[in-house]
Amino acid sequence: RDQTTRCTSELNPRIDYRIIPGEKPTLIVHQELGMAPGTSNVVLGTVQDITQQRATERRIRELAYTDKLTGLASRAYFYKHTEDIIRAARRRHERFALLYLDLDGFKDINDSLGHDMGDELLRTVSQRLQSSLRDTDFIARLSGDEFCILVDNVRDQYDAAEVAERCLDETNRPVWLGKQQVRARCSIGIAYYPEDGTDLQSLLKAADSAMYAAKEEGRHRYAFYRPELTQRVERRLQIEQELRLAIERDELILHYQPQVELSSGRLAGVEALVRWKHPDMGLIPPGEFIAVAERIGIISSLGEWVLNKACEQLSRWLAMGLPELRMAVNISPLHFRNPALLDTVTRVLETTGIPPELLELEVTESVVQTTGNDFETFERLRELGVKIAIDDFGTGYSSLASLRALPIDCLKIDRLFISDMLDDGRAAVLLGTIVNVAHALGHVVVAEGVEEVAQLQVLQGIECDIVQGFFFSRPVPAKALPEIVRDGFPGVAAKGQENHDVVAAETPTSGAGSRTPSS
Ligand code: C2E
Ligand code: CA
Ligand code: CA
Repeated sequence: RDQTTRCTSELNPRIDYRIIPGEKPTLIVHQELGMAPGTSNVVLGTVQDITQQRATERRIRELAYTDKLTGLASRAYFYKHTEDIIRAARRRHERFALLYLDLDGFKDINDSLGHDMGDELLRTVSQRLQSSLRDTDFIARLSGDEFCILVDNVRDQYDAAEVAERCLDETNRPVWLGKQQVRARCSIGIAYYPEDGTDLQSLLKAADSAMYAAKEEGRHRYAFYRPELTQRVERRLQIEQELRLAIERDELILHYQPQVELSSGRLAGVEALVRWKHPDMGLIPPGEFIAVAERIGIISSLGEWVLNKACEQLSRWLAMGLPELRMAVNISPLHFRNPALLDTVTRVLETTGIPPELLELEVTESVVQTTGNDFETFERLRELGVKIAIDDFGTGYSSLASLRALPIDCLKIDRLFISDMLDDGRAAVLLGTIVNVAHALGHVVVAEGVEEVAQLQVLQGIECDIVQGFFFSRPVPAKALPEIVRDGFPGVAAKGQENHDVVAAETPTSGAGSRTPSS
């Protein structure tokens, strides 16, 4: 403007500027500041300088305080804001809740559909979460697929639970990623100020351990923090610190779960499943340490150990005169991508002398997606004579169509499918289709997680080839296997008695000697 303007400072309402076009602005100091009232010419730059500086500062603040990908508040902003909220809550004696939200299986989506699609999913989920919250709630993206939500002024625990429920629903609405429709799922941990923590770090830790508990309790759910969870955090830390030594100290062991040929009831093979016999903590299941091994970069040596032991064991059984069994070994996607795997398998086959076709490597769908159309590892492994199975089929994002090009031998249908089968008629129909397609492609179909005779019947109806599950046997130590071959599965006859046409249940090991059924 071309006339003199007076405006008040943002910082101190008792200081005014006088701005005369073309001149440096001057400060007007008021009497009540305890300074000599009057005008000062020295303090400020030109108007342009000031606005520019302000704009820059605002921009810096925005950059630091917003998450570039999603537009939500950033981690830095979250920290600052939470500390403000804590101070206010302390003053006013109020409670608030901190929700820690982590997407389930986000890594799989990233691995199988690519990072761009992963980013797209994060953006969509962020928008949905934000719009489902009340104005007073605050949401930030902490990193990757982790979000935090502050729910202010909660009366009881239902307030936060309600927000958590809404988040579960919002994330689970279908999202189109390219041509693929996915439904994200998430696990949420809830901690309260002040009961579960009175400062930022302890609150975050509490909400984080509650989130882990939600994952352990089955995912896509929420859990409240409880004090005993802290022990679990310590356990996780201990596992992380000692896992490297476990291999050196020879603390890992393998158990073997029988796989039964459905048409004959014959024992077709076993799956090797690793456990850690910890000197203080007892038997630790793989669910607690495989992901750790992947994270700390020792999964290939762990996988090599498993391959060695499993094949040695098979060669011992064969030497004892047991019928030929297939030995299925789980290979982590990271290990599968390691070029050294081929040499390892070659060497293990040489040193143990087992027929290569008795070794089956189980890899999950995500391996298939990341290798794209480059099936070299698959093909080179099959040239060695070993079999390849796709594990946990049906949980990932690969379609039946993508199976066609795959050089594999066997499809293992995930346990979730089997457990849904009886309640949901559509699941059984879909399963039938999968079996047909797999057979048309020449693959053997294995159903895992079979626990009930009714599931066995459905699987028989749709001509599934092999079943594995607690119905027949839990994973057992090596020394239990000869007995199973000789006497069958303890307890199965009783379970099967209610139903006489379940052949496998009654004569579990008859007709031993032949191999994988050809389909
Ligand atoms: P997975 O490959 O899907 O293995 C099957 C898991 O389901 C095993 O759990 C087995 O005990 C369990 N299971 C079998 N039948 C039933 C049933 O009827 N009902 C129920 N509820 N569960 C059943 P486990 O031994 O705890 O292994 C968990 C996962 O850890 C495995 O899932 C596999 O992904 C991984 N894992 C195990 N051993 C190894 C290994 O040597 N290397 C690698 N990379 N991963 C392994
Ligand atoms: Ca498996
Ligand atoms: Ca599986």
